[in-house]
Amino acid sequence: MPRAPVVRVALPTPLRQLFDYRVAGLDVEPGMRVRVPFGRQQRVGVVMASAEDSEVAAEKLKAVLEPLDDRPVFDAGLLELLQWAAGYYHHPIGEVLTAALPKALRLGADLAAQEERWRLTAAGRDACAAGEPRRAPRQQALLAALQDEERSAVALRAQCGEAWRTAARALAERGWIEAFETTCAPAPVAAAPAAGPAAPPLNDEQRAAAERIESSLGQFGAFVLQGVTGSGKTEVYLRVTEAALARGTGALVLVPEIGLTPQLVGRFRARFGVPMAVLHSGLTDHERLLAWREAYSGRARVVLGTRSAVFAPLAQLGVIIADEEHDASYKQQDGGFRYSARDLAVMRARGAAVPVVLGSATPAVETLHNVAEGRYTRLTLTRRAVQSAGPRLALIDLRAHAHTAGLSTPAVQAIERHLGAGGQVLVFLNRRGYAPTLLCTACGWVAPCKDCDARLTVHLHSRTLRCHHCGAEEPLPERCPQCGFAVKPVGQGTERIEETLAQLFPGVPCVRFDRDVVRRRGDLEAAVQRIASGEGRILVGTQMVTKGHDFPNLTLVVVLNADQGLFSTDFRAPERLAQTIVQVAGRAGRGTRPGEVLIQTEFPDHPLLTGLLTEGYEGFARTALAERHEAAWPPFSRLAAVRDSARTAEAALQFLTEARALAAGARGVRLLGPVPAAMARRAGRHHAQLLIESAERGALHRFLETWLTQIAALPSARRVRWALDVDPMELF
Ligand code: ADP
Ligand code: ZN
Ligand code: ZN
Repeated sequence: MPRAPVVRVALPTPLRQLFDYRVAGLDVEPGMRVRVPFGRQQRVGVVMASAEDSEVAAEKLKAVLEPLDDRPVFDAGLLELLQWAAGYYHHPIGEVLTAALPKALRLGADLAAQEERWRLTAAGRDACAAGEPRRAPRQQALLAALQDEERSAVALRAQCGEAWRTAARALAERGWIEAFETTCAPAPVAAAPAAGPAAPPLNDEQRAAAERIESSLGQFGAFVLQGVTGSGKTEVYLRVTEAALARGTGALVLVPEIGLTPQLVGRFRARFGVPMAVLHSGLTDHERLLAWREAYSGRARVVLGTRSAVFAPLAQLGVIIADEEHDASYKQQDGGFRYSARDLAVMRARGAAVPVVLGSATPAVETLHNVAEGRYTRLTLTRRAVQSAGPRLALIDLRAHAHTAGLSTPAVQAIERHLGAGGQVLVFLNRRGYAPTLLCTACGWVAPCKDCDARLTVHLHSRTLRCHHCGAEEPLPERCPQCGFAVKPVGQGTERIEETLAQLFPGVPCVRFDRDVVRRRGDLEAAVQRIASGEGRILVGTQMVTKGHDFPNLTLVVVLNADQGLFSTDFRAPERLAQTIVQVAGRAGRGTRPGEVLIQTEFPDHPLLTGLLTEGYEGFARTALAERHEAAWPPFSRLAAVRDSARTAEAALQFLTEARALAAGARGVRLLGPVPAAMARRAGRHHAQLLIESAERGALHRFLETWLTQIAALPSARRVRWALDVDPMELF
């Protein structure tokens, strides 16, 4: 096929355009990376399109230096997705690609490279048959992994852990396994997956859901799989994936954050014999490259990862699954390209004509609106797969009961009761550290962060004061720096609750889950293990405990402070609160014992709390949608935010004020602000925001298109850092 003489290339620059190059007889097609001259440098870009000619004068048109791939990295569907994202989020295409491509590939690394692989030798097979090796669990695991197929070093490391290489060397010395090199080429896609062990028979609801989704394989369909934690959603994902694999296609599975990957990876690995590629922020650049190779080559049939994995190549995409779809982590909240991986997953599925499954116990209010409008199909799992009644929820009126360091008397009594009955207890508080404030009782001084409009949090274990907004840290003072009097910590954090519980329940082992104790890979597993083994009886945790882990013996959850989300300027705050409460409550009574959930509040009559109690999340979502309709907030309108920061509050506001002035007379949009952020000063910079709202998406985007170029040209733009956030998740 004769190739078009010109290609349009996306390059990593902030310019909102493509760059034309002559192909000069090279084998180049859309989706491939190319090395091109750019100014006096060379850059790596991605060919977005071919063209017959260019508007650039022929003598000025430079030639592609070399193609870096022999087949496209991004297939037509992905290219379209990237282009759509650049348009929708009004972000330069080159920078969109920067977000989508692993760094090594942006720098020109080979995608179809030699890679280290390992396989069992005949001697090794005999040894295994003879029951060898008898006492080396790492070696046994490695041999088991190589039993049915050869595997890459990456896959072995992912499966057998960091120490795999020591085991591999030992086995290689005995001649049982051997390493070899191969080129990553598309592997033939096997017809059927290796039948995994022990898939439980699905219950009726699970089967109905799985069948409905499976009937959509090969065509687009958006499904909301709604069910509380433990209702068997993951089992449905596995079943649908199995069906996709059986058709010779693969699955892309997204999770909102890295902490959720190990368990899900474990479940998929245990079920399928097929190689998987895992992508998350904890990988080194090289590991990420290797995972991409697995996916691109078609060797990995299942790709599982966090946000940016939505751009991962898959030889034959069959289905996309986004677990915990309501989670705000799906939205890139900083940097330039602020995309929603959940929304892009739906777009990708549409383009690729495959079904997408959005799973959650508490679907985003927007998602439920899409269900109500008939755009998404809801599939509900109402029963817990493992039999147990749902937990009982009750409020504790903090005004009516005495409390010790944040724990009310009824809560303490309930903890006692549940521990006495042999249950485990979770105490939830979304604030780490010992206390949020250090106060001088003589002069009223409170320890402030020098760079933020925030107080420093007391961390007693490390004897430091820390800012949770900018990371600043200083030693804990003994005395008030202002008057020399003694200082005392005020309020509660998880550290202090742990201390109080140790005093109230001496000898009862307590495990804390927060970012201060769970820092490295392995910490989380260790903490989970202490609870799962029954060694830890009380858990104290932040948001971190709301995700995933299964503690069947947990019978009581105490939510210490539900009130932070009740009164906020952010219209999404109540939704986040309701989701948190439901997710935390989902930790209770997952085994055969019934659970109890106690929520401490100073506002027991607040309609959000009472609604949640009487009608559950459904009732809450209905009220929330009605309120948003009334106030014309999304999904009943479209929203974008321009956020900026500067060294002075004036500069931050000036740019946005001028930006607003440029919008005077714009049709179909309403501008709100600018206003300083609720916490205006963070890390020494002043933050402000301007909202743009429209009843209609088209109007908003037409407006942004021209307005963004205008505001970028404002002289005041150069004195601030600013970014556009389409569909912002958090408002301040
Ligand atoms: P979710 O993803 O909604 O939290 P899971 O799929 O993890 O739910 O299911 C919760 C637990 O119940 C898991 O241990 C799972 O193995 C088990 N389970 C799920 N479905 C069934 C079933 N149909 N029969 C037996 N056990 C099941
Ligand atoms: Zn003082
Ligand atoms: Zn700070």
